[in-house]
Amino acid sequence: MENKDGFPEMPHVSILQHALKIYTNNLYKVFENRYIKGEGCCQDLLNSSETPYDTEHIYVVYENHFSKNFGFMVRFNLPDQNIVCDCKKYSFSSILCCHYLHIFNIHCVPKIPD
Ligand SMILES: [Zn+2]
Repeated sequence: MENKDGFPEMPHVSILQHALKIYTNNLYKVFENRYIKGEGCCQDLLNSSETPYDTEHIYVVYENHFSKNFGFMVRFNLPDQNIVCDCKKYSFSSILCCHYLHIFNIHCVPKIPD
């Protein structure tokens, strides 16, 4: 969303507020689009493993509720918020993929990890 001067408006979502602080306007727009795409994703929890030190959740994230035949495997590790997605989009650009952002959303992660 933009205000009348073409600058992104301060969003009400904390991870978007953080993105607005650390990215340029153009990168922020890419991030916001991926965030919105992530909102529309759904997930299946494949496995959770717990040790005394951390928990790892393995999800399959689907970009579309209606076509559950194609998804990406996402491994999310707590409490360090280490996350790996099979789509590898993050390796090619500095912006997190929509699958990451979907999992961050369901775990209420308020900031983009360093
Ligand atoms: Zn991904």
